[in-house]
Amino acid sequence: MPRAHGMLKKKVEGERARLVEDIEQLGMREQERPGYGNHMADDATGVFEQTRNFSLREGLADTLKRVDGALGRFEDGAYGKCGDCGHVIEWGRLKVLPYTSLCVECVRRQERESLTGDRV
Ligand SMILES: [Zn+2]
Repeated sequence: MPRAHGMLKKKVEGERARLVEDIEQLGMREQERPGYGNHMADDATGVFEQTRNFSLREGLADTLKRVDGALGRFEDGAYGKCGDCGHVIEWGRLKVLPYTSLCVECVRRQERESLTGDRV
C-alpha cells in the first residue's frame, strides 16, 4: 500500500469511529424521548424530532456503508481506483472525500444521467 494511502486509511477509520458514535448517540436520544406524552405540543415535537433523527440516521448509515466499502478496498488493493471506469481517482478528491469510490468524471456523468432521466 502506498504510504499516502496509509494516511487516508487512518482518516477513513477515524471517520468510521465518528459515524458509529453519532449513530449510537441518536439511538440513545430516541430512547430518552419515547414520544408518548399527553401534551399535544410535546407529541408534535417528539414526532418531528423522531422523523429528523430517522433521516439523520439514514444519512449516517449510508455514509457508514461507503466508509466500510472504502476500508474493504484498502484490504483488496482496489482503493483509489474508480469503481466505475477503473481509472485512478484524483489525489485532491481523495484527500477531501477519502471514502469516495468514483472519480470526478464518473460522478459528473452520473449527475448528468440522472438529470436527463428526470426530463424523460
Ligand atoms: Zn471513473
